[in-house]
Amino acid sequence: MESFLVFLAVLGVTSTEQLFVGDQVLRVTARNEEQIALLRVLGEQEELQVDFWRHPNIPGHPVDLRVPFPNLQGVKKLLDFRNFSYSIMIEDVQELLDEEKESMRRSRRVKRSSRTFDFASYHTIDEIYDWMDVLVEDHPKLVSKIQIGQSYENRPLYVLKFSTGGSNRPAVWLDTGIHSREWITQATGVWTANKIAQEYGQDPSVTAILDSMDIFLEIVTNPDGFAFTHSSNRLWRKTRSINAGSRCIGVDPNRNWDAGFGGAGSSSNPCSETYHGPHAHSEKEVRAIMDFIRAHGKVKSVISIHSYSQMLLFPYGYRRAPAPDHQEMNELAKKAVSDLAAVFGTKYTYGSIANTIYMAGGTTIDWAYDNGVKYSFTLELRDSGRYGFLLPSSQIVPTATETWPALLDIMVHVLEHPY
Ligand SMILES: [Zn+2]
Repeated sequence: MESFLVFLAVLGVTSTEQLFVGDQVLRVTARNEEQIALLRVLGEQEELQVDFWRHPNIPGHPVDLRVPFPNLQGVKKLLDFRNFSYSIMIEDVQELLDEEKESMRRSRRVKRSSRTFDFASYHTIDEIYDWMDVLVEDHPKLVSKIQIGQSYENRPLYVLKFSTGGSNRPAVWLDTGIHSREWITQATGVWTANKIAQEYGQDPSVTAILDSMDIFLEIVTNPDGFAFTHSSNRLWRKTRSINAGSRCIGVDPNRNWDAGFGGAGSSSNPCSETYHGPHAHSEKEVRAIMDFIRAHGKVKSVISIHSYSQMLLFPYGYRRAPAPDHQEMNELAKKAVSDLAAVFGTKYTYGSIANTIYMAGGTTIDWAYDNGVKYSFTLELRDSGRYGFLLPSSQIVPTATETWPALLDIMVHVLEHPY
């Protein structure tokens, strides 16, 4: 028995950790609206436990779904019966999870001191919070850490503030990791924080931005969910709040905002991955950002970073009609994705949420836009589906590196277009 436990420990398996042995991620292409509707129905069959990685949206666009091993045969039969064409994107989800764990372990082994940080590795919330303190210590005149609230499980909600002075300057808000399983986003947030600190006084654009604006960056925007992805279920997306009257936990914090709340693309079922919550701003993690932006009063841009599917999106998500500033946002997005592609050739699509991915009520950037933040964007980082949420850590630095010019484009545009 003892040797068996040692064996499990070596594998990194603990009794509370959910395994995904044999689970597959299938890519289905729906040919028409009828097939889209069928996929949605499939997703609602609780016994099948289908987990959409890319939701059914527009005919011809890929839909990715993780299917637990015990239900694979059944789901594949259903897809065949309904004449869907599909391919297997990930043969065995657990294999990728094991590789990810091993790579984190390797990174920890070579770490020499608390001041060295491996940007090319994924990290726990404690490691990221410790590193934030090191960044503040190393750049005391530029970077500070503020707390905007507490999570449902009472973890601090920390935000890095980059400021060269002044009082209540116009500001840019960035957040990563509001969906906890999108690990490439928190990792990109860490890299970006370091980059901003390094480039002030070096890069003329960064210097100009910080000479008249502040940047706020919340890296671990859903800390309870993120801690849970490390301890128990790597694929956890939502918050960890308890839903009254349901055995299912958590709310989708990107459906919880008071902008088209409860509309298309969100669910009233607490067991759904897109559950919008009992009411708008029910989640403490969402309310903290809302309160902060409201109280600040001069946030000119909100950039909320997600993965995956390589897109740059802007309002609206809750309605199809173009936003009043559609033309300007579209031009800016076009430039940003072109500068992003210039780094490694990574191709992004862009457009409004509703017309590029799907109708989605209650999203961060729609709320920001409707509350006076003109430059509101969402990025969906790498990849386009080969690894999905399980992007190998070797792609962290390349992803962050190519995203940087796109972020700079938006921030420079905000600087040059005061309102
Ligand atoms: Zn997301």
